[in-house]
Amino acid sequence: MTRRWWRRTSVSVGLVALVGGLLAGCGYGSDHESNSGEHAAHYGYGSTDGPSHWASLDPAYAECADGRRQSPIDLAGGSSATLEPIRFTYHPSEVEVDNNGHDLEANYEPGSAIIIAGARSGLERFHFHAPSEHQVNGKVFPLEIHFVYPDPGGHTTVLGVLIRQGRANPAFEPLIHALPKHARQQLPIHGGLNPTSLMSPHPQSAHRWSYSGSLTTPPCTEGISWQLFRQPVELSREQIAAFTDIYDHNARPIQSLNGRRLLHSP
Ligand SMILES: [Zn+2]
Repeated sequence: MTRRWWRRTSVSVGLVALVGGLLAGCGYGSDHESNSGEHAAHYGYGSTDGPSHWASLDPAYAECADGRRQSPIDLAGGSSATLEPIRFTYHPSEVEVDNNGHDLEANYEPGSAIIIAGARSGLERFHFHAPSEHQVNGKVFPLEIHFVYPDPGGHTTVLGVLIRQGRANPAFEPLIHALPKHARQQLPIHGGLNPTSLMSPHPQSAHRWSYSGSLTTPPCTEGISWQLFRQPVELSREQIAAFTDIYDHNARPIQSLNGRRLLHSP
């Protein structure tokens, strides 16, 4: 499936979602880092519904244009700092992989979590962007994974993993076998998938960047704690293509830092 397929599908699915939204009171912008957009307007990555239009699609998306602490950013420079280690807990359960029309997303049952400085946030989902949303000194990577951890107080931490082309990575095979090729299709990964197997080795103590940003999709809500591993994870060309053959154009452009502090492990 090519980019042309994506654009055509995006438009037709968007129309269906708009009509369906009027009829059923349910929209299309509900997935990604946020749960808050269940009744929000359709958005996409095309010439009429792409990132530069998001704020005009729905008043609820105003922060996409007005926000001053937006994501993604170019990960360049920054200050060295001792970052709190991340503790991971994993509760094995079946994982459902959803092709939601924008991206490929794996949804978790409650039970798996991270703990940073004593604060616990539960793993809700992870999803993929192609190409990467964050850049490193202007370098774009073929894929980026976002692991989304909301906490009970409504604050969300997102762990970001950059993917570069290299050797095949067997840890991704159960996920690749479960990728739904068609919009609105879901497939299970029986026996689950420990998210840390998709991250850098030793993610508890791996070097990372840290900054305060936003959802990279509407409604572009700010106050997201971004934690991105500095070491990219390698996948083979064929493994990367398993994702980009389905979606290869769902990355928001980089946003201005606007004086924010970017921290990185020493
Ligand atoms: Zn994302």
